[in-house]
Amino acid sequence: MDIKTDTLIIGAGQAGLLTSQALSKRGIDHLLLEKETVAHKWKTARWDSLLLQQPNWISHLPDFPYVPALTDPDGFPTATQMYDFLVSFADKIEAPVRCGIAVEGLRHDGPEATFIADTSQGAFHANSVVIATGSLQVPRRPNFLSGRTDILQISASEYRNPGQLSGGAILVVGGGNSGCQIAEDLRRAGREVVLSLDRHRRVPRRYRGKDLFWWFRESGVLNTPAEEMPVDTSPLVFAGGGNTIDMRRFAQDGIYVTGSLAGLEGDTLVFNDDLGAILDHGDRHYHGLLDRFDLLAQKRGPHLPDDAGARYSWPDSPCITEPIRRIDLGDAQINSVIWATGYRTDYSWVELPVFTPEGKPHHHHGVTDIPGLYFIGLPWQVNLSSGFIFGVRNDADMLASVIAARAADSGAFRASGRKS
Ligand SMILES: Cc1cc2nc3c(=O)[nH]c(=O)nc-3n(C[C@H](O)[C@H](O)[C@H](O)COP(=O)(O)OP(=O)(O)OC[C@H]3O[C@@H](n4cnc5c(N)ncnc54)[C@H](O)[C@@H]3O)c2cc1C
Repeated sequence: MDIKTDTLIIGAGQAGLLTSQALSKRGIDHLLLEKETVAHKWKTARWDSLLLQQPNWISHLPDFPYVPALTDPDGFPTATQMYDFLVSFADKIEAPVRCGIAVEGLRHDGPEATFIADTSQGAFHANSVVIATGSLQVPRRPNFLSGRTDILQISASEYRNPGQLSGGAILVVGGGNSGCQIAEDLRRAGREVVLSLDRHRRVPRRYRGKDLFWWFRESGVLNTPAEEMPVDTSPLVFAGGGNTIDMRRFAQDGIYVTGSLAGLEGDTLVFNDDLGAILDHGDRHYHGLLDRFDLLAQKRGPHLPDDAGARYSWPDSPCITEPIRRIDLGDAQINSVIWATGYRTDYSWVELPVFTPEGKPHHHHGVTDIPGLYFIGLPWQVNLSSGFIFGVRNDADMLASVIAARAADSGAFRASGRKS
């Protein structure tokens, strides 16, 4: 049986849920379709020791405090805590979610000027559609080692803990958050780890007694508009749990850092001659940020103590002074590879002309050129905050206002939005 609602939200992660809350506040009838379960990514695609990048104190949702923040504001949520928090939030707002329904096609019903979402459980008709399917959908995996079935190869989203990997050394490919945090996790468990880095931007975890997110908020970095997005989009490397990620410290701790992976020749891993440039790039960003924060500290006065330690440079280990370009898999006993090489989106089911030639949604602040079609949860959708759990609320609120105006204009139809 076909179902009608004013607004269909596709995806029930944080972005879909916050949009639901904002629509409910405006009395807009809506449904969320979720192919798995609410916020499941925090349970199914994160490793056991993962701590979120932002501290507890900034992790609240609208009208819904993050309880651990009250007792330990400077701690960091675990992935499980974030999952539980989002599921409780969905309950609290009575989000009209239907789980286990994948949208397999989204098309426009021309004459009616409405949308039809085709699913395994029939068609859903809506006046407006919000695509909230996340930006980190499908792991990217270079095919350097395709065909090497003798080596266990998993993506970062499949990694859980060191016990999952049999003995021997592990190659972690990717120097963003995931690669760095997984390499640390493995090394803490005493495993031999080779970490193949790529271009990244380092940031301090804490500086002058304050967390990075305090500095980001106070200096206005979080509100950097999409129009002023930095040209350099290499990943910012954060760490939860109080550490600043520093590849020179990694090397001191026994992680074997290399340049970016170029390929496999026979049984030999080949790395590019770029380790020095990668480390310099990360450090330049780190020190530039400290300089920027120092300027802010001067304006704020003496309550932000000096922090010379943050400028400490760890001595270079031999793997940095004499970077190795070739590693024999057998000699190094590498029999597991973790690909922490990023994600891509999959909008193959959206049968609407709303994408750039590169396959990215064409939009302004989530509003597309197709009346009634919106995106939420895109990185830099409105500003830097858009990509963070605590930041997507403003974007959701703005979209809900646009949708409410459209519903008012069109005398939108009403339908059942029951929770399943
Ligand atoms: C390792 C890792 C660590 C991270 N750490 C942080 C952090 O510390 N802080 C932070 O703010 N962010 C972090 N992020 C990013 C965070 O995951 C995202 O910000 C967040 O999950 C995005 O929420 P979302 O609702 O946009 O998308 P998602 O959580 O991905 O939700 C999208 C939902 O859409 C559903 N869906 C997809 N396609 C369909 C379809 N066709 N039909 C129906 N349903 C569909 C999916 O099943 C999913 O539940 C991290 C990401 C990763 C990978």
